[in-house]
Amino acid sequence: MNGTRPAGGPAPDRSAAAVVHYFSSDPLRTAQADRIARDLGLALSSIQPVLDHLVALGVLDRKTTGEGNPPVYASHVADQFLDVIERLASYFTRELEDLAGGAAVRSTTIPPAQLLTPDAPGVRSVRPVGAPVGEAQAHLHTLHARIASLEAANALLQRKNLELSFLYEASLLLASSIDLSTLGQTVVNAIVHTSRFKVRRCFVALADGDAFLFHAGHGVEPLEAEQFMFRYRARLRQCVQRGEVIVADAETLQGEANGDRGTRIIIPMVSQPPEPAYGCIVITDAEESGLTGDDVRTLTQLAELAGRSLANATLYSRSITLGMTDALTGVLNRRYLDRRLADEVKRARRMGTNVSAIIADLDHFKTVNDRYGHLEGDRLLQAVAKVIASSVRDIDVVTRFGGEEFALILPGANERDAYQVAERVRRAVQEMSFVTAAGVQLGVTISCGVAHLKDNIHTPGQLIGLADRRLLAAKRTGRNRTIASDSGVPVTAP
Ligand code: GH3
Ligand code: MG
Ligand code: MG
Repeated sequence: MNGTRPAGGPAPDRSAAAVVHYFSSDPLRTAQADRIARDLGLALSSIQPVLDHLVALGVLDRKTTGEGNPPVYASHVADQFLDVIERLASYFTRELEDLAGGAAVRSTTIPPAQLLTPDAPGVRSVRPVGAPVGEAQAHLHTLHARIASLEAANALLQRKNLELSFLYEASLLLASSIDLSTLGQTVVNAIVHTSRFKVRRCFVALADGDAFLFHAGHGVEPLEAEQFMFRYRARLRQCVQRGEVIVADAETLQGEANGDRGTRIIIPMVSQPPEPAYGCIVITDAEESGLTGDDVRTLTQLAELAGRSLANATLYSRSITLGMTDALTGVLNRRYLDRRLADEVKRARRMGTNVSAIIADLDHFKTVNDRYGHLEGDRLLQAVAKVIASSVRDIDVVTRFGGEEFALILPGANERDAYQVAERVRRAVQEMSFVTAAGVQLGVTISCGVAHLKDNIHTPGQLIGLADRRLLAAKRTGRNRTIASDSGVPVTAP
């Protein structure tokens, strides 16, 4: 919305000094802003100095829209300031008009614009000419009250301004990070910053099913955080599942607190309520004076920003993983193999370490398709992928090379290690049990070719090429075997 006047509402006084425009994507708030703009439009001549003051504070921007037109005031943070502006609006439209009217009755004429100048001392010295001293004092008294009220509104605006600039900075930082591993630390830094360093110890916990994982902390060691998460797990779950901010003092934590004292605050990082939160911000220690309600509200808004960033980061990491995963078998795909193998070969050459590759191919797989159909063939491929993945170390990389072939990268493995891994995988496949939907038990075997990076084999292509040639040798010499040398003799036979 662009601050247009509501159709059908009373036309603002064109002689008024300004029309306040708001920007908002929320129709409800837009209507609300329109109404306020209209009210303000009518009373603007009275509040010109206050608008000037708001411009000086940086809350509003003044724009001139052309010769003879009233200037336009725009607030970039209108949504956040709406409640303050609303208070100001009702203050000016009702109370100030009363004051001007009352003054006239009491035989003095102080135009509203004169009542309000940005510098309070100047205002205090305003004295209606010709008014009796007693009445003038009464006016002054009223004026002082009005000014105090304005100053309170200004202080509120300033606090809001501070709070918003903290949140703005935090949101920039959070929005620029889609890396799950660094996001937690960004959130923690923002908490310490946003709370104006009142938070001394806090951490971010991510929900993982029913459990919680420590993600990043300030003044809290991982072990300590884990103990906390275990002790207060019911509270953390309540926070994450219901999206509730939990402020728990020693009293409410009775029976759970294990003798701990002080206030703890657990804030959910929700992306889309009422969906469960991604995790929570846990504040375990704040300054003596404690956090005010305003602080907790700011931190809750920060947690919402964090929730949205976590949602983005999770989606991003899922899409990256999806892009690297083979849809049928769930192991990594050929694209990933190419990239990872290039990295591993580079690293091994630079550091002088080992790296080996295995290509494993199902024996007579075509027969399975021909006899039992492609669907059974697919199920068998899935089962074999699972067995291969569970027969290797965590650091080994299992990929689908194509069709019914799997390629494995074994970082750090020399020729002998790689041969042993290939044999372990081969035996595991041979021993696996696979039953078709029709209840037929099928025996399945694989053949493996193994290659190791060495002097005459120094590119990823050469490494895979050699493993492939040895795989063909394993096929030629009878299948269900591993070949890891060029001697032509199978290294092992069933
Ligand atoms: P060998 O022992 O010599 O490797 O014999 P083989 O039958 O396993 O090899 P061949 O290359 O003759 O056949 C491979 C078959 O794998 C042919 C192809 O239809 C099948 N295949 C490739 N990808 C898939 C897949 O995703 N699903 C299914 N069901 N079959 C596949
Ligand atoms: Mg095959
Ligand atoms: Mg094949």
